[in-house]
Amino acid sequence: MSVKGMPQILIIDDRITNQRILARLAESVEPGVSVRAFGDPLLALAWLETHDVDLVITDFKMPNLDGAEVTRRLRAMPRTADVPIVVVTVYDDRQFRLLALEAGATDFLLAPVDHVEFRTRVRNLLALWRHQVAARRQAERLRLDLEASERLRIDLMRESREALGQLIDTVPAMISAADAEGRVVFVNAAQAAAVGLSPDDLVGRDVTGLFGAERGALARTLHAQVFAEGDALPGFEEAMVRHDGVRLDLYTTKAPLRDAAGRVSAVLSTSIDITDRKRAEERLLHLAQHDPLTALPNRAYLGDRLRERCGHGRRSKDRFALHFLDLDRFKAVNDALGHQAGDRLLVQAARRLQAVVREGDVIARLGGDEFAILQQDIADASDAEHLAGRVLEAFRKPFRIGGRNISVSASLGITLYPADATAADELLRNADLAMYHAKAAGRLGFGFFRTEMDAAAQQAMRLEGELRHALTYRAFDLVWQPQVSLHTGRICGAEALLRWQHPQRGIVPPAQFLHLAEETGLIAPITEWALAAACAQGVAWAERRPGGLRVSVNLSPSLFATRDVHDMVLDALAVSGLDPTLLDLEITERVLVDKVDQVAATLHALREIGVTFSIDDFGTGYSSLAYAKSFPVQRLKIDQTFIARLDSDRADAAIVGAIISLARGLEMQAVAEGVETAEQVAALRRLGCDEVQGYFLREPITAGELTAMLDADIVHLAAG
Ligand code: C2E
Ligand code: MG
Ligand code: MG
Repeated sequence: MSVKGMPQILIIDDRITNQRILARLAESVEPGVSVRAFGDPLLALAWLETHDVDLVITDFKMPNLDGAEVTRRLRAMPRTADVPIVVVTVYDDRQFRLLALEAGATDFLLAPVDHVEFRTRVRNLLALWRHQVAARRQAERLRLDLEASERLRIDLMRESREALGQLIDTVPAMISAADAEGRVVFVNAAQAAAVGLSPDDLVGRDVTGLFGAERGALARTLHAQVFAEGDALPGFEEAMVRHDGVRLDLYTTKAPLRDAAGRVSAVLSTSIDITDRKRAEERLLHLAQHDPLTALPNRAYLGDRLRERCGHGRRSKDRFALHFLDLDRFKAVNDALGHQAGDRLLVQAARRLQAVVREGDVIARLGGDEFAILQQDIADASDAEHLAGRVLEAFRKPFRIGGRNISVSASLGITLYPADATAADELLRNADLAMYHAKAAGRLGFGFFRTEMDAAAQQAMRLEGELRHALTYRAFDLVWQPQVSLHTGRICGAEALLRWQHPQRGIVPPAQFLHLAEETGLIAPITEWALAAACAQGVAWAERRPGGLRVSVNLSPSLFATRDVHDMVLDALAVSGLDPTLLDLEITERVLVDKVDQVAATLHALREIGVTFSIDDFGTGYSSLAYAKSFPVQRLKIDQTFIARLDSDRADAAIVGAIISLARGLEMQAVAEGVETAEQVAALRRLGCDEVQGYFLREPITAGELTAMLDADIVHLAAG
């Protein structure tokens, strides 16, 4: 509606009278109606270019434009395209009416106009027009509302897409998508930065531009799989070289992207940088596989490599050698110069080894002073022998440590693959055995594995198991050998000798198992048992015989290295209640040479409470006689080898005589072992020996048998 809602009616009529009549009528239709009248239709049309009207009333017959033409032109103008137009005609203007209708007229009025009809028609047309305008405005408002909300939606979408894009750009992952043709359709900032280009440079290009030739080829294969199967691929690790040359480790996943119809339209690749994690893993692996001191591979690493080689080797024809190397006097160096010096020696030893092996060979430190060399691709045993020679040669020059020259030789055991064994653990055991044999043999310094070694080792293993079993099931026993005084001719003591009741082999003498017991540490519980049994027997004899009977127990040298002998002996005495002066402990010269101070302290402490000591097998060891003086020793037991040749060998007779006078000089007793004949007894008496022990009486007997002898108080030897 035109100005302020007031209806505006336009009247076009070439006759002034009609204009006035129509204007007056129009003004009377409603209060507030404003009327504009034109005589010239062209002027009216011109005016309408800038004015709105709500109703046009035009005469049909006019000089320059008729009502039909006016109507046509009004309809062509935007302002009046829909405005009601009433054309005034006379009765016989049927023809004109038709023309006006065709031109778009809304209604007709007959001239001369009937006032009532005019007002009614005009009022109705105005009302209709108002409706129309209102409806149109509402529609317009709706349209505008719709448009606004659509704009908002588009804005929101753009914003959220931007936000998503930003989000994807800030994610610390390389994200890209490629279509079925292998073209990049999307790249995030991280992925583009890794390539050193902008996302715009990459989109539309082939994936090889993004991933590089190798990863690109792999990506194509994997993408084809995703397109074909429509499923995400399990994540996998791969490596890439960043544009600046830095190598990165990635964890990559590939997943399908689907379009609205659910078809796979692209493959989304997401890679996260796991370089740090991989480095940490590698470091941990390195630590787990290397020795921190020498930085050499360790036993675990060697085992892995060996198993690997054994796996390959069975199919291929290659051969290799495994060398085990043990430094010969390392423990002594460690004890004498301290652990730091020992460590430095090991590091230098490792460097020397590295200098003699070929590239590709593996040197490992197995622990302590043990090393191994995996010598790759040998033609035959002589190659291994050559390397062993070079290694031993490398150790011939002394090591320079803390300003001192220290000579340390090495022993080497060699086993060959596949000749000796085809399994890693077998090879390791073979080389170890060969090394032990080489060490025991001395001289050469190295030796090859032989199958007999394995048999011996297996027997030792079986024996160890049986020994443990024997300890648990108390299969040990003591037999006794009386010692007779050459002064009184009476039994003055008895030595306890260990026996093992083996279920199959019968009675096993100590020589056959003591060595193994010492190696395995089983000697400690065995000795505890022997001490307890001997002390208990000593108590039984003390109860039967006034003054009691001295009982002697043998102590292995290895006990002094590992166990607290002092506590062990005190325990046995305490539990049994034996008078300590009735306990004699036999030790060998070897004990006195090793760990002097520690052993001396133990012996003196036990001597304080009355325990006595004998040096067993005297004359076979290397102790200087002065040693014997500084230890609280009461007896020297002359080794049976000298006694056996007493009759035949004058030199041995001289030695025995010397030992006896030495004993006297040191205020010790001389005891002869292994005495078998009456002649030997006589000779020993002449030489001034104090006590004898041996088969001349009987072979070792049971405690019961010895008790019977004591009860009878048999005197076998006439006092001298
Ligand atoms: P040993 O202490 O020198 O013991 C003497 C060995 O010579 C004993 O052998 C004994 O049976 C043997 N023997 C004694 N008189 C004669 C003789 O007239 N002629 C000959 N041919 N041999 C004689 P056995 O019992 O086989 O013991 C061997 C070694 O085993 C002992 O030598 C001792 O060093 C060790 N031993 C024995 N029992 C124990 C023990 O309980 N603990 C430890 N640690 N070692 C023990
Ligand atoms: Mg003995
Ligand atoms: Mg002996």
